[in-house]
Amino acid sequence: MQKSQNSKKNYKKLLKRVKKISNIGEALGFLRWDQEVMMPEKGTPARAMQISTLSSLQHELFTAKETGALLRKIESSELSEKKQSVIREVKREYKRAKRVPNELIEEISETTSKAIPAWEEAKEKDDFSNFSPFLKKTIELKKKYAEKINPDKKPYEVLFEDYEPYISLDKTEKILKELREELVPFIQKISSSEADINKEVFNEEVSENTQKELVKEALNLLGFKWDRGRLDVSAHPFTEGNQFDTRITTRFQKEPLEAIMSTIHEFGHATYTLGLPQEEYGTPLGESRDLSIHESQSRLWENHVGRSKEFWRLFLPKIKEKIPSLNTTLQEVYESVNQVYNDNPIRIEADELTYHMHIVVRFETERKFMEEDLEVDEIPQYWNRKMEKYLKISPENDSEGCLQDIHWAHGGFGYFPTYSLGSVLSAQIYEKVDSEIDNLQKNIAEGNFQPLKDWLRKNIHRHGKRYTTNELIKKSTGKSLSSRSYLEYIKRKYGKLYKID
Ligand code: MG
Repeated sequence: MQKSQNSKKNYKKLLKRVKKISNIGEALGFLRWDQEVMMPEKGTPARAMQISTLSSLQHELFTAKETGALLRKIESSELSEKKQSVIREVKREYKRAKRVPNELIEEISETTSKAIPAWEEAKEKDDFSNFSPFLKKTIELKKKYAEKINPDKKPYEVLFEDYEPYISLDKTEKILKELREELVPFIQKISSSEADINKEVFNEEVSENTQKELVKEALNLLGFKWDRGRLDVSAHPFTEGNQFDTRITTRFQKEPLEAIMSTIHEFGHATYTLGLPQEEYGTPLGESRDLSIHESQSRLWENHVGRSKEFWRLFLPKIKEKIPSLNTTLQEVYESVNQVYNDNPIRIEADELTYHMHIVVRFETERKFMEEDLEVDEIPQYWNRKMEKYLKISPENDSEGCLQDIHWAHGGFGYFPTYSLGSVLSAQIYEKVDSEIDNLQKNIAEGNFQPLKDWLRKNIHRHGKRYTTNELIKKSTGKSLSSRSYLEYIKRKYGKLYKID
């Protein structure tokens, strides 16, 4: 009895500590949001120090003796199953954090804060050499970081666990290999298909103001919670926040489809975050499971809802209200949003098929410079060779080659595979939802997204980190993660669209 009382008392103390640490993390998230959305151009030096100070404070608090002492005193078996999962998560992260010296965390944070503007400039000027010293330094620091956490594992595997701790790199590699083997020939068939797909919906430029109205309209249709959310503009769309305050960003090109689709994508992320239990805020039970699950939610809304004919049956009339001169049919829009861009070098503009090849290129490049002999200066060429191999595309310059994404400037090596895992998982989840909700498609065409939202909230969002990723996938879909549903969905949909048997 005494033991059980003590465990409960110490659990409370630990939770108080965990919440404090989590709130620092939340503040850091909003500082980063501000840096990319609001901050004036020259604010970087101060912001870098603020971020670095808070990161190190967070690390210090978490790795303090008190955290370890509390974890040792708590007998997990004396606690409820829910609380046990909190301990599992805190312990796992504590062990990792404990191994990394504070100075290294600070150095990484300072370096990446400077690497971001350097990357921006390099991308703008198409000058890899502007970014390469920062990238070299970041890689070096991240290798050191991985070695501190586990010198017996390959560095890439350790880094991957930062984003996806409960799906093994072997499993991930297997899925990426299946995608590569199935999709490379399938994309070739599409390239040589004679199907006449409508490619453009908007034949005139749509102003940024009108585009903003369109994406807001899409968010209204889907039921975005404006009293707990915001929409802003940034160079690279992202979502930041928690169950009380979730912010999404978008960006505008000449034609509005990209902004619309990427906003629906971010809406999926936001819906997950907003669906986390409010009463668990600041604890692992109130935090999202890792990136693959997060991405499965954004992909589900973007691809399975946002690219469906039913959604466009609903949304096209709204667009025509804003742009009365628009002369297009539902079928044309459907073809246009689902066209395969077999000559596009940019990941974020890719369709749901070629997308995975962009990921495979990044994955193979990252592993090569992390674990083998690829020098930073050789990255652009290596990248271009891989693009040629899998997509038969030669990027015209590094801005549309290896400089296109911000993630390396953040030190986010190992992050990209979670995009593919999430996309694959979204098909598996959607298949399950479709089998459990009557008239899912009809509901979507009528603008009734509630049954879908309720299903996702009940089966995924409300659990936070209660289950490990594999457990959550199995619990919600009845099966462990596999590429089957995704590949079947892709072949069914694109086989029909491009008239491939
Ligand atoms: Mg995403």
